[in-house]
Amino acid sequence: GCTPEGVANALRGAAAVIAEHRAELIELDRAIGDGDHGENMNRGFQAIVAALDGTVPDTPGGVLKLAATTLISKVGGAAGPLYGTAFLRASTVVSNQPELGAAEVVAALRAGLEGVQARGKAVEGDKTMVDALLPAVMAAEKAGGQDVAAVLAAAAEGAAGGAESTVDLVARKGRASYLGERSAGHLDPGARSTALLLEAFAKAAR
Ligand code: ADP
Ligand code: MG
Ligand code: MG
Repeated sequence: GCTPEGVANALRGAAAVIAEHRAELIELDRAIGDGDHGENMNRGFQAIVAALDGTVPDTPGGVLKLAATTLISKVGGAAGPLYGTAFLRASTVVSNQPELGAAEVVAALRAGLEGVQARGKAVEGDKTMVDALLPAVMAAEKAGGQDVAAVLAAAAEGAAGGAESTVDLVARKGRASYLGERSAGHLDPGARSTALLLEAFAKAAR
């Protein structure tokens, strides 16, 4: 299962992966947005690491809530509040349980998706992070009878495929939608960052 320290380590791993891919995310956002996604995500996840270096909350839900409040307060733009809402919903659904099993991880992922959709109103096919997160949740639910590592591996695979699917899509939400048809032919930066985060979480659980 996932302990608070396990969740904290997964977030530290995610921060390292985001830092490694900062330039890539900037390039993706430069093509169809304003070029700040890599910097926004890096600032947010470095702030999460700094908060965790101060103190690790004593429940997994507390750690997720700390990530949420950090992202909401430190990251402007669309992605900060959207990811912040995802982590906040995930933290709420696991409440104060001391450790998370596969069922709780699946529920947290589902709650995160619902949070993103409640806040941003994007549906599947709008060329956003939803296109990575939704297939991730579907794959996680399918793997739900297995252990946490298998659930997160399935989610990561679902997210990677979902992110790739955004290349052909025309954006209907976010800045990329201002480009209309010209947004097609580019990978959505937020879908890519979702795939990177889930891959980092899966790696931490292996
Ligand atoms: P901004 O567009 O404000 O500069 P970022 O560059 O950090 O913010 O994030 C852009 C990403 O946010 C997009 O690639 C997309 O995946 C995601 N996004 C934008 N609007 C929405 C929305 N309404 N719902 C879901 N995701 C969205
Ligand atoms: Mg941007
Ligand atoms: Mg911006």
